[in-house]
Amino acid sequence: MMIIGIDDTDSRTEGGCTTYLAAVLMEKLQEHGTFADYPLLVRLNPNVKYKTRGNGAIALSIEIEDSRMDAAKKMVLDEVGDQSKLSDENTNPGVVFLSGASEGMRDDLRLFSRRAIQDILRIEDAKRLINTHKIDFHEFKNGRGLIGALAAAGIALNGIPDHTFELIAYRESGRASAGVPRDVDAESIREADLQTYPRTWDTVDIANDTVVCVPHGNDPVLFGIRGEVDGVLDVFNCIMSEPAERAVIFRTNQGTDMHLMRVGPLIDPVKDGCSYILDGTVCDQPHTIHGGHVIFRIVDKSGTTIDCAAFEPTKNFRGTVRKLIAGDIVVVCGSVSNATVHLEKIKVEHLATDYDVTNPVCACGRRMKSAGVGQGYRCRHCGSTASAPDRVLIERDLDVGWYEVPPCARRHIAKPLVRCAGDVHLVHPGR
Ligand code: ATP
Repeated sequence: MMIIGIDDTDSRTEGGCTTYLAAVLMEKLQEHGTFADYPLLVRLNPNVKYKTRGNGAIALSIEIEDSRMDAAKKMVLDEVGDQSKLSDENTNPGVVFLSGASEGMRDDLRLFSRRAIQDILRIEDAKRLINTHKIDFHEFKNGRGLIGALAAAGIALNGIPDHTFELIAYRESGRASAGVPRDVDAESIREADLQTYPRTWDTVDIANDTVVCVPHGNDPVLFGIRGEVDGVLDVFNCIMSEPAERAVIFRTNQGTDMHLMRVGPLIDPVKDGCSYILDGTVCDQPHTIHGGHVIFRIVDKSGTTIDCAAFEPTKNFRGTVRKLIAGDIVVVCGSVSNATVHLEKIKVEHLATDYDVTNPVCACGRRMKSAGVGQGYRCRHCGSTASAPDRVLIERDLDVGWYEVPPCARRHIAKPLVRCAGDVHLVHPGR
């Protein structure tokens, strides 16, 4: 068995897509061996600044005779060389080949893959591991892609703790390179979504009236359907569109929350560039700042605070966040940047009691007036007095439970609540 890890072949400006490269290799490598599994699409730390889009890397596992390995490796490197957008300074492909692994290598790779998903690594971290275990590799330019290539190969080697599937259909190359707008019938997508949800998700965003599964960039992807394997196939068979050149189902860690770390019970050890699950109490009323972003602060049991933000692209999720009040007990999930949690999900664990405080109503039916600072209230009509204001319980327009950003704002790796229904109570999936 040989595992091939590949990353960093595409470009924001010049197009391309590492998953497309994998899809082509799935066809070409068949002459050398048999694939042991679906191709693996691994989403790494979503906060990495070098990413083109979703920080994805791929790994292929192929049963192959030793005598065929060199030819297969050459085929892979030729394809990476041909398809990579090497003129973009941010495209630095890396390829690794694993065949056979000691226990020590498995353990090191397990740790490396986890760190690539949850932390920020350096190219030297990848090279040190490659040297230690004498891993066969090839780098183009500065070889930053070795980080993702090694991480994806490590997941293929050690197994993926949780997974979903994505079926990606690709455009015919002529249309893609000519920049012809994608021709995909939105009605057929909406219908397919209705037929298959919750076996598929994030195909459309009903609340925000948006088709989510069709990209708009200069990459070769026609559409991508996320879900369970039978669901994504059903959607594929329903969508009416321009002809797809090819379509491939990837096993993936998308929709798994593998990036989130629970460091608690305290907020203190968080750092920028990583993603967390944090417990806290809301300490101020959420407020909306310029640009429509909604901000509030939470405090933990030690008194440490951190700001949380529901940014404008999270659309209707901000409406839920605005309903929080000081004293609500919450769990927040998201990545930390500039010491602020970029909210992906929030659990309202306990709702604080909210009162409307008004001047007391007198026995004579009139409302009392303040009698001066610290002197209570007095009825100007009959002279009665009261020491405390009336407090009327306000019914909260918010339920306890989990809330999430809508599909149009979801990160690939974030676990949609529709996948959590069996694990936790009280989920309010965004749809
Ligand atoms: P696409 O999804 O379109 O294939 P992308 O968003 O995956 O593109 P890449 O072109 O692969 O972006 O660039 C991401 C780069 O960041 C790669 O070189 C990868 O090796 C590197 N990288 C991935 N994870 C980490 C990490 N945790 N720390 C540092 N670098 C990382």
